[in-house]
Amino acid sequence: MAATISKDVIVVGGGFAGVATAQHLARAGVEVLLVDKNNYHQFQPLLYQVATAQIGVSEVARPLRAIFRRHRSVRVAVSEVTALDPKAKTVTLADGTVCSAKILVVAVGAEANFFGITGAAEHSYPMYSLDDAVGLGARMIADLDRADSVTGRDHNLGLIVVGGGATGVELAGAVAHNLRSAVPRLFSEEFAQATEVHLVDMIPTVLAPFSERSQQYSREQLSKMGVRLHLGVGVTEVRPDGVTLKDGSKIPGSLVVWAGGLKASRLLGESGLPQGKGGRIDVNPDLTAPEFDGVYVLGDAANITDSKGRALPQLGSVAQQSGKWAARNIHADLTGGYRRPFRYIDKGIMAMIGRGAAVAEVGPGRRELHGPLAFFAWLGVHAALLSGVWQRVGAAASWSVDYLSHSRPQVVLGRVDSK
Ligand SMILES: Cc1cc2nc3c(=O)[nH]c(=O)nc-3n(C[C@H](O)[C@H](O)[C@H](O)COP(=O)(O)OP(=O)(O)OC[C@H]3O[C@@H](n4cnc5c(N)ncnc54)[C@H](O)[C@@H]3O)c2cc1C
Repeated sequence: MAATISKDVIVVGGGFAGVATAQHLARAGVEVLLVDKNNYHQFQPLLYQVATAQIGVSEVARPLRAIFRRHRSVRVAVSEVTALDPKAKTVTLADGTVCSAKILVVAVGAEANFFGITGAAEHSYPMYSLDDAVGLGARMIADLDRADSVTGRDHNLGLIVVGGGATGVELAGAVAHNLRSAVPRLFSEEFAQATEVHLVDMIPTVLAPFSERSQQYSREQLSKMGVRLHLGVGVTEVRPDGVTLKDGSKIPGSLVVWAGGLKASRLLGESGLPQGKGGRIDVNPDLTAPEFDGVYVLGDAANITDSKGRALPQLGSVAQQSGKWAARNIHADLTGGYRRPFRYIDKGIMAMIGRGAAVAEVGPGRRELHGPLAFFAWLGVHAALLSGVWQRVGAAASWSVDYLSHSRPQVVLGRVDSK
């Protein structure tokens, strides 16, 4: 018979939101069971750097047990959660174990949304998890090795990135940079010049949440770096040898990366929680799920609004702050206090384009920075946000070596999952 475990609080998901909740509850001595299908917390904003050999896996992933080693009241369980019952406040693990709690926190993040586009799920590489980043990086290096065979060079290489948000822009920029720096050094100049990088988005710009000036700067920088932009036209089909656009034109390419959008995790759809935009849960101002008392939904799994009722974006800062806030409200639930409505502190947004080129809009007033200042601000903020000392030091060391020597020390081959 499957075991049953009971705790004060169960947190499902060890991402930004789940870790912040568990850390703040632990400080108040609350007994927490934190369940994640992976034994590590991953730092998604830097996944593209793993895929493009700028930093290593150990810099973006930190073992959950290491994060909570000093928090005796947090028990980490590594297992996929296969079912959630918000009414009974139970979760079922892959081995059939049922865990119940007074309070359930759902922080399962999101997954790639292919919007039903023909061939997208089968033939493109999504960029959402550490596995995705490692698989994509291995595939890019394997393609280069295969094309540079002893019998001659195959120049039919090309990367197509679908989606001009921060992930798509950062990835396209980093690959374009590699084609100028690491590829000529490790392969040949001619080979690098023949390889094209395309960025496609159905809207007529990149980085939609940024100001028009930041968008224009980003488009110019990408073009300068050799990224070919196809904006204002959607993708209708993804094939192993490229994509077809809505206007009927085709872009040839040996590899397609999907950075085209996210949707809520499948687990939410099967849980009975009422779903809103993007399949996410429209939470109450105090971050609880409507109709289910004692169930909190946080981060990318939720549609969270600010104090003026405006929808907040799916960002690490929103997830982290919602986790911290939920912990306070949960503590109030357990001690007879009052929940308070979530108040988001907007510290701004930033995106990396390439060496010395980035955009940042800082603070609620959105003070704009472009170029080297934004580039160094981006590096500083991301180093500071990494979860552990080892991760911060490792990333800073890799960035310094990369900046000073143009070398990519992480060029190793992993498992290649061909699509
Ligand atoms: C490539 C990329 C780049 C990004 N860049 C930025 C950026 O520069 N700045 C920024 O602010 N935001 C960025 N974001 C967004 C940010 O990373 C997310 O908003 C944030 O990670 C959401 O946190 P979360 O805790 O809700 O979910 P996640 O961080 O996704 O964590 C969800 C956790 O739940 C676990 N899980 C899921 N399903 C199950 C299950 N069934 N059983 C057990 N465990 C499960 C997962 O393993 C994961 O650990 C980026 C996102 C991506 C994908």
